[in-house]
Amino acid sequence: MDLRPLIEKKRRGKALARDELEAFVAAVVAGSTPDYQISALLMAIVLLGLDFRETVDLTRAMARHGETLPRRGKRPRIGKHSTGGVGDKTSFLLGPLVASYGVEVPLMAGRGLGHTGGTIDKLAGIPGFKTELSSARVGKILHGHGFCIFAQSERLSPADRRLYALRDASGTVESLPLIVASILSKKLIEGLDGLVMDVKYGAGSLAGPPHRARALARLLLRVGKQLGLKVCAVLTAMDQPLGQTVGNNLEILECLEVLRGQGPRDLVELTVALAREMLAMALGRGRVPSEPALRERLGSGELLAPFLDWVKAQGGSWQDLSSLGLAPRLFAYRAPKTGYVQEAHARELGLAAMELGAGRRHLEDRIDPGVGICLLKKIGDRVGRGEALADLFYRDPARLRLAQPRLAAAFRIGPSRPAQRSLVKAILKNYRS
Ligand code: URA
Repeated sequence: MDLRPLIEKKRRGKALARDELEAFVAAVVAGSTPDYQISALLMAIVLLGLDFRETVDLTRAMARHGETLPRRGKRPRIGKHSTGGVGDKTSFLLGPLVASYGVEVPLMAGRGLGHTGGTIDKLAGIPGFKTELSSARVGKILHGHGFCIFAQSERLSPADRRLYALRDASGTVESLPLIVASILSKKLIEGLDGLVMDVKYGAGSLAGPPHRARALARLLLRVGKQLGLKVCAVLTAMDQPLGQTVGNNLEILECLEVLRGQGPRDLVELTVALAREMLAMALGRGRVPSEPALRERLGSGELLAPFLDWVKAQGGSWQDLSSLGLAPRLFAYRAPKTGYVQEAHARELGLAAMELGAGRRHLEDRIDPGVGICLLKKIGDRVGRGEALADLFYRDPARLRLAQPRLAAAFRIGPSRPAQRSLVKAILKNYRS
């Protein structure tokens, strides 16, 4: 298909008709259009936008291609998705936690996009672990384990699979209608009773400042409602990375720490807040376990065995993930002066991890699961001159040299302790609860 008429129409600021958007998506899935034309249309959309009707039509067209997930039994099925952040690893915790209350949690996730890490990439370091699964296999794992984390494939969400990769490669990620269509088209095929969205704002988010994240949340709610999907959007801060680690194996190991009761405060807080919203959708507000009960279950160690069983069900061959490999070299990044950490800029730290090899600069780049950053100090912590702010796990000294200036740009140290900000800013819903 020749996309030039659509590109020129959008370039003139005109709305694309439903059949034009359907033809565009069909061409993307068929592979019958060159990448440069698709990228040109994506860029025109980034610059000139899509109106509400176009966003709904694009989402619906994308969801129409590929298989849908089968449902067995009567358990409620609740999805969760994040708009993308740095060190964002809550899916690995929410899966076993929410499933332990008798709820099915399908988690179709993506690879890293821009400076943000991808849930699918984080699992790639586990030997044998498979994320490209058929819908029947996902259904079986959901039935047996209550949760499943899987990627788009030729069979599941093929339209988003190609568009997601092209957006990453063509600088067209940060468009609200494209983000909404990408997310909701994936969620519509999951057969959900409801979706909890973690909509990030701040330096490391795709949306940027809080007002833009709120606009993204509202669009997710409106498009979801139009397409018959109950959506709850939780607006959460992404000014610094979530938890202490950024990098694939490091992040899985950090999740195991949480399940052993030793996880960082912010990661536990956000996991519990999202779990409460998921369980409210599944069970009704009156039957949601209390926050202390959720914290207790998350950190009691009782979810470790279900987590490891699930790893095995998706092909992972390791019984004890605590031996996941880390890169052999360690560099301590030290504070240039004494004071309080005022800023640990999430985007710069995400890019530093990418420079080490934890993310992709180009589509075809290979990820190194063992590299990454462990933050020893976060916003509000006191640090002495020469004390380590972060440990960098690296393999290649040339890549470490690329990461170092990013660390220097990420940390700001000042004389006073900054005020503590809460992680959850607002909760919006497109239904009455
Ligand atoms: N997550 C997605 O699935 N798609 C986007 O476009 C952004 C975040």
